Amino acid sequence: MDDIPLARRSQQPAASGSRAGARLRLVLLAGALVLAGAGLVVYVYGPLRRSPAPPVAGLDARPSGDGRLLGHFPYPEARADQLATLAPGVQLRPEAAESLRALQRDAQAQGVRIEVLSAFRPVELQRSLFFDVKSERNQSARTRARVSAPPGYSEHSTGYAVDLGDATRPDLHLNPAFDTTAAYRWLKANAHRYHFQLSFPRNNPQGVNYEPWHWRYEGSTTALRLFEPAQRFAR
Ligand SMILES: [Zn+2]
Repeated sequence: MDDIPLARRSQQPAASGSRAGARLRLVLLAGALVLAGAGLVVYVYGPLRRSPAPPVAGLDARPSGDGRLLGHFPYPEARADQLATLAPGVQLRPEAAESLRALQRDAQAQGVRIEVLSAFRPVELQRSLFFDVKSERNQSARTRARVSAPPGYSEHSTGYAVDLGDATRPDLHLNPAFDTTAAYRWLKANAHRYHFQLSFPRNNPQGVNYEPWHWRYEGSTTALRLFEPAQRFAR
């Protein structure tokens, strides 16, 4: 008979002790789960937020808050069915091509021969231009970006931009001194009437080198929409 109360006494503390132990284990388990969850969140989202994957493989640079990469705005690539052929291997959006033909014809009528040096460039071509010339000249991406846009960031990929030259001065093609030619003087005075404008004037706020040969078409709503961020930035 004495055994029962003894057993109860000995069991009761043990039982309440195991309940406390179970509570402690639950609290510890919950704590561990919360810590593990927080760790997972930091592990998964932390690196994404702090360092998103670079937008251009092989280029250790990231876009600024306004989306520019090394000064250049991002541009989509025109699809093949959005392009018209101006000459063999020279393609532009139809409205830009038509306007450029008129521009060349009217300049020619005044004795000025304007030559198209480059028009639409696919992103892949822009990639090889950017990286090949960069490695050739042993330039840093930042230096290279002053004279050429990184792939995905070139106005040429839109089918609305052209590099123009003076046919009588091939020595000044893609040269800042192109601005001393008759072709440049004619463009400066007349290109706006054909909806072409200089993308990178001297000391442009985008920080891209002066390119008197590079003109973009802004005469359609699609073109205007594409170049709106660059226009807004230049104002
Ligand atoms: Zn250009």
